[in-house]
Amino acid sequence: MPSETRSTCPYCGVGCGVIIESDGAQITGVRGDPEHPANFGRLCSKGSTLHLTAAAPITRHDRLLHPMLRARRGDALQRTDWDTALDTTARQFARVIRAHGPDAVGFYVSGQLLTEDYYVFNKLAKGLVGTNNIDTNSRLCMSSAVAGYKLTLGADAPPCSYEDVEQADCLFIVGSNAAWAHPVLFRRIEQAKAMRPDMKIIVCDPRRTDTAGLADLFLPIQPGTDVMLFHGLLHIMLWEGWTQPDWIARHTSGFDALKARVRECTPEAVAQACGIPAADLLTAARWFATSPSTLSLYCQGLNQSASGTAKNAALINLHLATAQIGRAGCGPFSLTGQPNAMGGREVGGLANLLSAHRDLANPQHRAEVAALWGVPSVPDKPGRTAVEMFQAAADGEIRALWIACTNPAQSMPDQATVRRALERAEFVVLQEAFATTATADFADLLLPATSWGEKDGTVTNSERRISRVRPAVPAPGQARHDWAIAVDVARRLERLLPSRAGAVPSLFPYASPESVWLEHRESTRGRDLDITGLGYALLDRRPEQWPMPEGAAAGRARLYEDGVFPTADGRARFADVAWQPLAEPRESRYPFSLTTGRLRDQWHGMSRTGTLGRLFGHVPEPSVQMHPQDMARTGLGEGDLVHLTSRRGSIVVPVQASDELGLGQAFMGMHWGGEFLGGVSSTGHRLAGVNAITTSAFCPSSKQPELKHAAVKIMKAELP
Ligand code: SF4
Repeated sequence: MPSETRSTCPYCGVGCGVIIESDGAQITGVRGDPEHPANFGRLCSKGSTLHLTAAAPITRHDRLLHPMLRARRGDALQRTDWDTALDTTARQFARVIRAHGPDAVGFYVSGQLLTEDYYVFNKLAKGLVGTNNIDTNSRLCMSSAVAGYKLTLGADAPPCSYEDVEQADCLFIVGSNAAWAHPVLFRRIEQAKAMRPDMKIIVCDPRRTDTAGLADLFLPIQPGTDVMLFHGLLHIMLWEGWTQPDWIARHTSGFDALKARVRECTPEAVAQACGIPAADLLTAARWFATSPSTLSLYCQGLNQSASGTAKNAALINLHLATAQIGRAGCGPFSLTGQPNAMGGREVGGLANLLSAHRDLANPQHRAEVAALWGVPSVPDKPGRTAVEMFQAAADGEIRALWIACTNPAQSMPDQATVRRALERAEFVVLQEAFATTATADFADLLLPATSWGEKDGTVTNSERRISRVRPAVPAPGQARHDWAIAVDVARRLERLLPSRAGAVPSLFPYASPESVWLEHRESTRGRDLDITGLGYALLDRRPEQWPMPEGAAAGRARLYEDGVFPTADGRARFADVAWQPLAEPRESRYPFSLTTGRLRDQWHGMSRTGTLGRLFGHVPEPSVQMHPQDMARTGLGEGDLVHLTSRRGSIVVPVQASDELGLGQAFMGMHWGGEFLGGVSSTGHRLAGVNAITTSAFCPSSKQPELKHAAVKIMKAELP
């Protein structure tokens, strides 16, 4: 029977509503949901082809349809049954925990998981097993934004909404190629500019991206100098009298220390460090500070950095100094990369967080969560974050890994270390929808998971809007929902590790995603993200923004309108952060700055988008882009194969001229891996994709790695 199902696009943090058409067994079409406030019916090239990538899941050669187990390392994977797979997972984890303690296991999950999946995994690790070793690929995407918001505003809560794009008088887009990474939001920006041509748009990026094509003022910043730029803009604002002293006095703390710091950030010094003319700095400062409303949109260019927290905080400082926050059309608005990075933050699905924006480091928060879960305690030892987790496994300290819905053998930086970790771990279980990811090569056990169009639950987009994800077709083969797989292993572990279980029959009594949601919802009561007024019944009618406490008629589009912030004294905090040099500066042996990023029509490791020929029309094959003058100077021609080499390894890739880049810069899309880009590490490991050469240096506060910069050399490859 033909049917239509309202759901949410699984690709990016814009979180567009979709209507899935199906014949009951197969997904036959998709169109934008005209009533969803994120997209009002629009879809981008990826979203509008979802039905083509989801079609015929049983016949897709790479769809994982049954549990697969290796008898021994090195043997081929063989089909097995669910009971054997679940028993094996529980037994292997219990064996390692009994022999080496709970911190000898690790869970690495994903911003592709639904909130309900995330909640169960977090409770399984921290509540049942008793380890905080659970982290997520969202660590690679938005942990600096979390740390920046908490440092300055007191809570991990983006204060803005997409509708602010239409109401802003000035947009400051920094470290975000929204035209490619958040295309439907960019359409809203284009439309707003067309309706109000006097709206000022400033774009700051090392590359002159498609987003920069819309800019009234483009700031071609040198990689890694963002904090210097933001401090320099504040210096100008202070000098010109463009700050808001009364608002600062009433609603903030810490401004004097920051003022002293930015004194030396003169326009001349900043212009030289950042590579931006001083006159453009003056214009940017004036537009930002004196426009009636200024909205900053920012993403991985700030986050994926060894000083990512400082970059986020220094940008938020500008909003506090100019009172560009808490009103329509203004505020610091961090864009999330993945569809449910925000939901993962809400349930505390990172190594340093607990449910409902609680902090692991806070004893009262740990006690509250232990009481909610019915466990004796939540461990206080900090968990290993993404890079730390794989380093610990490579060092033999983590011996069993459970990876869900992500592909670290391709997507983590410094791939050689990750692959060494996967080889050394005694047991690796991979829960996935697709059987052919690079990580599957290392797994002892594959657990087949459901995917978009089959799953049921919720996700939260960049503007704190919770939307339903609904199944349109049955799960293919023996695939099961992520939350249900985690529950079934948890119940087995409760029998094998009885000391951690509470008095109730099971800590995991869930029969449906809604029952998980209800427990998550209760954990938010009284917190900044209180959603006790929300339920599936309401979300089935319309998506809603948090907070929405019990009794509220609707969620909140904008935060801090009353000038009160969720800090101890109710004041926002200026962050006195210092500029730090890049973790790996360019030098004579590695003279180029390599930046990685998303391409317009591809998604992550291409498990889904890579199956569709038409999505290769925009960029058909991997390449490294360089400035034409750099190519001429190094004797390279268009399409030449080059060795792209960092201190960690080397890959071979064609080179392409691009005048979007500055001199000394290189850019490569992050999507290709596998057979496309065979390479070798400095220690002889077989590698694939650009993360063979990226660095795992990370921000000391957010632990987010510096995927936006590695020092590389580029040399012509000799053909055999
Ligand atoms: Fe999907 Fe993002 Fe495109 Fe919207 S903008 S259709 S959420 S990929």
